[in-house]
This record gives sequence, structure tokens and C-alpha cells, in this order.
Amino acid sequence: MSEVLIIGNGPAGISAALYTARAGLKTTVIGKDTGALAKAEKIENYFGFEEPISGDKLISQGVAQAKRLGVEIINDEVVGLNYDGSFLVKTSKNQYSADSVILATGSSRTIPPIKGTSDYEGRGISYCAVCDAFFYRDQDVAVLGNSNYALSEAIELLPIVKSVTLITNGKSPVKNIPEGIKVITKEIASFEGEDELLSKVCFKDGSFINISGVFVAIGVAGSSDLAKKLGAETNGTKIVVDENMTTNIPGLFAAGDCTGGLLQISKAVYEGAKAGTETIKFIRENKK
Ligand SMILES: Cc1cc2nc3c(=O)[nH]c(=O)nc-3n(C[C@H](O)[C@H](O)[C@H](O)COP(=O)(O)OP(=O)(O)OC[C@H]3O[C@@H](n4cnc5c(N)ncnc54)[C@H](O)[C@@H]3O)c2cc1C
Repeated sequence: MSEVLIIGNGPAGISAALYTARAGLKTTVIGKDTGALAKAEKIENYFGFEEPISGDKLISQGVAQAKRLGVEIINDEVVGLNYDGSFLVKTSKNQYSADSVILATGSSRTIPPIKGTSDYEGRGISYCAVCDAFFYRDQDVAVLGNSNYALSEAIELLPIVKSVTLITNGKSPVKNIPEGIKVITKEIASFEGEDELLSKVCFKDGSFINISGVFVAIGVAGSSDLAKKLGAETNGTKIVVDENMTTNIPGLFAAGDCTGGLLQISKAVYEGAKAGTETIKFIRENKK
């Protein structure tokens, strides 16, 4: 069990880890890849580098710095987050528990460019199985996605709803899909409905299925997807935090691009530092 578990190994997550590890707290960072900075070839507006540095190099140096200070870095994808006296973080390979969690997964929520998506958001199209499954009990639902995250959402729905279909929209499905989850790999043409409620997924080959709900789970779970699973307040894809990077859930903090505002490394590093120092206070107060 970690005292601090940080989801995301970008500038925000690593910056938070430097503070919590140096305060002597057992700190684990789980990250999937290099994040936004993988695409940044040259960074020259971040303090301290006379010559431009690539995003990859900046991240690998930050990760090495954190490891030197005793941070455990796990390369895995987080697919679920729960609270059961402690925080439970589910990844595609494992499960971890922690006294506190810092969400730092950057800003990504993929909204599918499919006709009808925005028309039926909140009226059949959802982005969170844990939050909304109950509304669809005994109904036929689908999960849109082909990743471990999509599968985790489908498994979450299975005991509650009548049927779950994983729709991969032309992509290859993830392996090891449990019995009971149907799979459709056809490409989607549109979402259609009646009386302003989603009722059909129509495919490009002209066929369709009747459905009451579609849970969008494309790619990896973003911070706002994970935050919602605990009932944390979000605003669109952003997590609502106060000036101390505290969410409305005790022990849950957020930092970096996932909180909105200036999407820059310096802001992510500052917020990571702030979330780290507030986490230290939280752990010390709660372990008295
Ligand atoms: C092309 C490009 C160029 C840029 N150039 C600059 C620049 O020159 N200067 C500047 O200041 N900023 C630049 N930025 C912005 C900068 O990259 C971001 O503001 C910064 O990286 C945000 O840090 P972060 O830690 O919040 O998120 P990220 O850097 O995106 O890190 C998020 C981390 O979370 C991980 N993650 C996400 N979901 C999961 C999950 N479910 N499970 C496990 N891990 C997960 C990702 O793998 C990633 O490691 C650029 C961005 C882009 C896209």
C-alpha cells in the first residue's frame, strides 16, 4: 500500500512525486506513456534549459530524478478508481491501494466524431459506467471503445444491465473479453433517437441495433473519467479544484492540464508541487 499514489507520469505527476517522496511518504506513480510531451519536439519556454530540450528527454530526466528519490514508477494503464476506506486504483494488470491519490493524467477525453453524439449526451450517451449504470438497469447498453478501459467499463455494467455490447467502431477489440459481452466491430454511422432519447446505433453498412445507452470509453481513462467514479466535481473534461489542488473528495487531489487553465509545463509543475505539499499535510493530519 502506498501513502501517495499518483496517476500520470507527466510534469504534474512527477513534480508532485518529488515533494511527497522527499517528505518521506511512500510514493507510487502509475503512468501509461510520455503523455502530451511525446509530441513536443523542442521546448524552449521552460526554465533552466539553455538549449531547447525535447519533450521525451524532459520527461525521462524527470522520471529518473523521481526514481533516484525513491519513487516507485509503474508503467501501466489505470482503468478504474474506487474508495473503500482507502483508495483502490485498478490498472489493466493489477490493483493498488493508497491513502491519497493525485490525478495528473493530462487533458484527454476523446469525444467521438459521430453524428448524434452531442445530441444524446446525458440522454443515452454517458462517459461513466460507475456513475450512470443504475439508470440503465435491465436495459440493453453498449460501450464504445476497444481498449482495456472500454472493457473495464463493460465489466462494470454487466451485473446491472440486461446486455452489454462492445462496439469497436472499426478497430480490433482488446483480448480476453469475458463471456456475456457481445462485440460488434462495424463502423458507426450515427446515433439516433426518439423523443430526444437515444434508441439506436446505426452502422455504416446500413444495419442498426436498438440500444438505451452508450458508454463512451475511447482510449485511456482521463482524469475527469476517474474523478467522476468517486463523485468528484468536474466541469466538462476538467476537474474542479481549489487553490490547494484539492477536489471535493478528501484525499483526492488533481494537478496539471486536467484542471484546465494554461496548458503549459510550468503550470503543471507548479500544480504538481502544490498538490504534493497539500497531500503531505493531508497524510500527516490523518495519520496522527
Ligand atoms: C505538441 C505539443 C507541444 C507542446 N509544447 C509545449 C512547450 O513548448 N512548452 C510548454 O510549456 N508546454 C508545451 N505543451 C504542453 C505540455 O506538454 C502540457 O501542458 C504538459 O505536458 C501537461 O503536463 P501534465 O502532467 O498535466 O500532463 P501530461 O504531460 O499529458 O502527462 C499525463 C500523463 O498521464 C498518463 N496517463 C493518462 N491517462 C492515464 C491512465 N489512464 N493511466 C495511466 N497513465 C495515464 C500519460 O501517459 C502521461 O504520462 C505542448 C503540448 C503538445 C501536445
